Amino acid sequence: MLWSKSFIFTSKETPQEAEVRSHQLMLRACLIKKISTGVYAYLPLGLRVLRKVKEIIREEMHRAGAQELLLSTLQPFSIWKRSGRDTVLGKVMISFINRHGKRMVLGPTHEEIITELVAQRVKSYKDLPLILYQIQSKFRDEIRPRYGVIRGCEFTMKDAYSFDRDEDGLQENYQRMIEVYTRIFSRCGLSHCQMREADSEMMGGKSSHEFVLSLASGEEIELGHIFKLGTKYSEIFGGVYLDREGKQKPIVMGCYGIGVDRIIAACIEKHSDEHGIIWPISLSPFKVLIIPLGGSKQIEDYAFSVYQRLEKENIEVLLDDRQESAGVKFNDADLIGIPLRIIIGERNFAQGKVEINLRKGGKVQVDKERLVGKVQEMVNGEV
Ligand code: ATP
Ligand code: MG
Repeated sequence: MLWSKSFIFTSKETPQEAEVRSHQLMLRACLIKKISTGVYAYLPLGLRVLRKVKEIIREEMHRAGAQELLLSTLQPFSIWKRSGRDTVLGKVMISFINRHGKRMVLGPTHEEIITELVAQRVKSYKDLPLILYQIQSKFRDEIRPRYGVIRGCEFTMKDAYSFDRDEDGLQENYQRMIEVYTRIFSRCGLSHCQMREADSEMMGGKSSHEFVLSLASGEEIELGHIFKLGTKYSEIFGGVYLDREGKQKPIVMGCYGIGVDRIIAACIEKHSDEHGIIWPISLSPFKVLIIPLGGSKQIEDYAFSVYQRLEKENIEVLLDDRQESAGVKFNDADLIGIPLRIIIGERNFAQGKVEINLRKGGKVQVDKERLVGKVQEMVNGEV
């Protein structure tokens, strides 16, 4: 991507409404834009990060044998009446009456819909165990939306549901999901995330655990929450199967949520300084930023040739080809936080050298001819 042609408009001012650092930096670095209270759009740079998180989640869920599906966002209100959770969620639910007089809900979560689906398909013990998941927008009319995407009214959740023959099966899948979550958080630069026992009021399950991260401010942001639901939903929606002896049994369920946007915000809270974001390479919108300085034709041509070679090698690269001062370019580079920067300055360049400079600190000088190889080496070694 060429910066001059991109939709990246950084800002120096800290937006007044943004109390926490991740919110401030997400706005300043042009990752998101506020559309309304608790409602945010992801801009091109932010969407790249969101995609990275989703891909990590997908890889780890698939490794555990889970299958992805996509349920509808619109749900009939009647299904919530059946589970009795219409009153539990209450005003959190965003609902409306459609033109045919039917009350519809923008899905705040999907236990009801998925249990009904599985209840209609699964018949035998041979169909179990099963783990299904989706990555989808959820809608909740939060009392106090705040901290940007950390508590929004529209947010992206990975929600998974396990279906087992018995409690032992549930226990196995539950344990498997704990391992999946640990891997996801660690790959997202959040290995400090802690698991602890939690309340399971809203889901009405038997027990639950949440994954929390403590921040410098002393606050904790919940990143994930997993529940042993037992047979509550399968009993309501007729989720039964025939066991080996031909006896009818209720399916035993678990559900497993991750706040995808919260992972991004938490990553920024943990990996940033007073100048901006310091992305771990796994989530960074680009792996490499090229910063040509001085504006000579020779340097510009060289920068562009490096850019093209890295693109050819499938290394995501942003070239700061704007006619801006070194100061502006460096400040923006620190703000958007790409881990590896190639700085092409006049003096070094005249001596056949280029600098590789790490956002987290540290730099090396390399020969112009060796640059691409060295960058590849560093990216593959995860910097
Ligand atoms: P909280 O306790 O923070 O209100 P919750 O217990 O209601 O969250 P769950 O229903 O367990 O949340 O949802 C699964 C995950 O979705 C949470 O662990 C969290 O990471 C994320 N999440 C929940 N509500 C929001 C929200 N309003 N904005 C962004 N992410 C959210
Ligand atoms: Mg929770």
